[in-house]
Parts: sequence; C-alpha cells; structure tokens
Amino acid sequence: MALITKAIKGTQDVLPAVSHKNQYVEETMLRVAQRYGFREIRTPVFEHTELFQRGVGDTTDVVQKEMYTFEDKGGRSITLRPEGTAGAMRAFLEHGLFNEALPQKVSYLTSCYRYEKPQAGRLREFHQFGVECLGASEPAADAELIGLAQTIFETLGVEDLSLEINSIGCPECRKEYHAALKAYFESHREELCPTCLERLDKNPMRILDCKSPVCGRIAAQAPVVLDYLCDDCRTHFDRVKAMLDSMNVPYAVNPRIVRGLDYYTRTVFEFVSDSIGAQGTVCGGGRYDGLAEELGGPHVPSLGFALGIERLLLVMHSQGIEFPQPDPCMLYIAAMGERAACEAASIAQSLRASDFPVEIDTCGRSLKAQMKYAGKLGAQYTVVLGDNELDAGVYTLKNMQTGEEMQIAADEFIETFVETAILAMEADLKEMFGLEE
Ligand code: ATP
Ligand code: MG
Repeated sequence: MALITKAIKGTQDVLPAVSHKNQYVEETMLRVAQRYGFREIRTPVFEHTELFQRGVGDTTDVVQKEMYTFEDKGGRSITLRPEGTAGAMRAFLEHGLFNEALPQKVSYLTSCYRYEKPQAGRLREFHQFGVECLGASEPAADAELIGLAQTIFETLGVEDLSLEINSIGCPECRKEYHAALKAYFESHREELCPTCLERLDKNPMRILDCKSPVCGRIAAQAPVVLDYLCDDCRTHFDRVKAMLDSMNVPYAVNPRIVRGLDYYTRTVFEFVSDSIGAQGTVCGGGRYDGLAEELGGPHVPSLGFALGIERLLLVMHSQGIEFPQPDPCMLYIAAMGERAACEAASIAQSLRASDFPVEIDTCGRSLKAQMKYAGKLGAQYTVVLGDNELDAGVYTLKNMQTGEEMQIAADEFIETFVETAILAMEADLKEMFGLEE
C-alpha cells in the first residue's frame, strides 16, 4: 500500500477498539468534577498569540519553544492552544463572568498543541482534562481542587500516584527570593544553558524548571522558595496543608516544584507516577492570583489543574486497571434475500431508536458468514429471517449464551424481544448485586 501521507509526528489516532477507554476516563472526570460544582466550558482551539505570551508567560518553555504559531490569511498571529487556562480565563473576563456569583468553577476537555520532542507520554497533540476555580482566594479552594483530583484518581482506581505540593509565594515575597536565586545562579553562570542565561535576568525561577541535566544539577542546590515566604503566604500554605490533613489526602511537601507556567502564585502541586518513565507528571496545577490582571481584567484570585489524558492512560495500563467494556451487540438479525433484508432493516431501525444495540448484514454475506460475524460481535441474541420465516409469520429468537430458542409471531417480535431483553438484564443485575431469592 502506498499511502500518500501518514499522521503527523507526535499525534495519535485513538482507534475504535480502544476509544471506550478514553470515553470512560473522560466521562468519569467530568462527572466527578460536577459533584464538586464544576461545569464544562468550551473555548476555541486557537487564540491570538498574545494571550499565551502574556497568560502563560514569555519566559516559559511553552512560549519560547513549544507553540504552534502561524499567521492567518488576514496577517494576524494565531496560536493553537498549548494549555487550557489562558483560554478559560479570557472567556471568563470577556463575558464578564466575574460579575456573577463567585467562584465560577469550570471544567474542560481539550486538545493541546506543543512542539516538543515526541516520546512516551510526550506528544505534539495531546489532551487535557482541566478545571479552574475563578474568584476564590481561601485555602479551602486549594484543598477542594486537590481533593477533586484525588477523588478522580480514586474513582478510576489509579494507585501509586504521589501528590507533591509547594508554595511559591506571591510577587511580594518572591522579590527577595528572586534576588537570592539570582545571586546563586550568577555564581554558576558559565555552566548554565543559553536559555537559562536569558532567564537569569528575566525570571530566575524558570531555571529551576529547566530540563537540561547540567542546569538541573545546579538547580538542586539552589535556595528554596519556602524559606522566603511572607507571613500571609506561609499562613495560607499552612491552612491548605491542615485542610488536606483533615480530608485525609496524603501529600508530601516538595520545595523544588515551581511548575512550568509563569502565572502561578502560592500553592502549586503535582501528581506524579514512577511507573511510566521520565514523563511522570500526570496532573499539575496551582494558584494563579495574578493572571486575570495580567490579561487586563480585575483582580480575580484563582486556581486550577490540568491532567494529561494520554499519561493517565499510560499509568492505568501500567497498573493493569480494567476498563468497563462498551455495550455489546444485543441482537444480530441475519437475513437471506431482499424481502428479509427489508424486514431486518425495519426491525433494527425500531429497536435502535429504542436504545437497543442491534446489527444487520451490510456486506451481502452468506448466512454462514453472517452468523460468524454475529459471533465476532458477541451478539447476545440472533434471529434468522428468510422467505420461509416471513411466509410463516413466525421468527425464532436464539439466546447465544444458553442456546435456548423462542418462537415469536412476526407482528409481536419487537415487543417480545424488548421484554425478553429487559428480563435478562434484570436477572443479570440481580446476580451482580447478589439479590437472587
Ligand atoms: P512536563 O514537565 O512533563 O513538560 P508541563 O509542566 O509542561 O509537563 P503542564 O503544562 O502542567 O505540563 O500540563 C499539565 C499536564 O498535561 C501534564 O502534567 C501532563 O500530564 C500533560 N502534558 C503536558 N505536556 C504534554 C505533552 N507534550 N504530551 C502529553 N501530555 C502532556
Ligand atoms: Mg512541558
């Protein structure tokens, strides 16, 4: 086969055989988030480039190296969203949601685009589930958000994730910290990578997040931000921790977490796995009290997290977690001849409209091949229609598990099938919950 092209490097097709896994985790996350009061927001896949330059930050890896930016036909600079927070905040500000009852709690499932070196758990198009709590300054909001992430992982049965938290303070206490960091990194100036040399002047905290091994080694000995927190930030952090303790959410304080985006203040956190190699951060988030103002809005203390779907699935696979199977085919209607094919199409149309998964032949197969296909589909019931059955006005419904057969008058077939299927489902449910007499 000589295909004219293939999928773009760093993108992934989710094929029908596995897409139910994505659907399951996505539905679970949206549902759990709803229990915590988060409702879905949908924003465009592209935005004006300056939104991310300002919102994510000029000195971040994302803005400096990873954005898919292009000029559109009108000469405007457009960027495919590299993350979800900036777009959600823009929509919140643009539509004046800050005038409504606060906090506004939103969730989203989005594709994101970053020009990175593709490897396990690192793609150029990937997917995030994220939540943002806009307009809440109290530690209760931080603890609630972290508790939500924890409940999502618990509901999905994901274990072995460790929660690491830190506080990176506010612009006030960070001044002193920046000075200390600068002095420290100045003394290692010759060893820093060229990008970090630039960061040294603009935003020395970014150096702590550099992926180069040499910078990483130097950063490991750098002063830690926790030692520089002002009283307000320290109290805020202590209250977040106390609340997590009372919610029984286990965590470790890791003073080295600074997160990759510029807008973070105070609480930052990551859920990390050590079972999927180097790209172990499954979920990351924190507080960004300054972002709304940075984008030209009022002061809106806010926080959020984003969870990488592909990395989450890697963790779930590595832990051998079972996924619920999609609904199987309930009835396969085999048909021989044109008259029977019409009758099969008619029954299938009615039953599908009533929510029953039904299949018929669409490939012109022989009866034998149709039955083989029904087996592949795992059909629970089959019925064979031919001229004889249509003339006699009696159809035979076969239960493929028990082999049991049932003669049904043609004009009562749909009704009887629905009753039989519902009784069987009830029996299954009773068995599942141990409710048999
Ligand atoms: P990393 O340090 O691994 O580059 P990050 O700090 O850039 O992560 P965030 O911007 O916080 O990541 O994004 C939140 C989550 O999105 C990450 O924890 C991860 O699960 C996922 N993620 C980020 N970049 C990618 C990518 N290129 N491919 C797949 N998932 C990603
Ligand atoms: Mg990154």
